[in-house]
Amino acid sequence: MYCIYCWNTDTKVLDSRLSEDGSSIKRRRECLNCSNRFNTFEKYEKIELTIEKKSGKIEDYNRKKLEESIQKAFNKRNLSFKKLDLIISQVESKLLNKRKIASEELANYVLENLKEIDESAYIRYASAYNNFKTKEDYLDFINKNL
Ligand SMILES: [Zn+2]
Repeated sequence: MYCIYCWNTDTKVLDSRLSEDGSSIKRRRECLNCSNRFNTFEKYEKIELTIEKKSGKIEDYNRKKLEESIQKAFNKRNLSFKKLDLIISQVESKLLNKRKIASEELANYVLENLKEIDESAYIRYASAYNNFKTKEDYLDFINKNL
């Protein structure tokens, strides 16, 4: 996605909502170079990427699955479409031009975003990914990362 004013490709998503027919996302972006703002209508990008799990198993990247894991981290607390789309679009921007990554790398991209947006979702996501079992697992993670 490039800026319509200066063609710079570094832009920030300010807002997003699903189009009325549900087939695309309307995003409001700001150019990080010239600071102009503009709207885009984007189809979900099909990301061709394979993920290597900790077990060594390989699977295709699946946006839906990523969404669900993030929704789970927010539990029943408020996660708007805008917020979810923002997290996913930021994570996916790191995945473009890659063919294969470790699941750990994907989890780290998600965690980087969650850390800024919502601390308890951040901890919950890390817990789900790393299989925290004891109070010490949580405390250790919090002490190291927050
Ligand atoms: Zn620009």
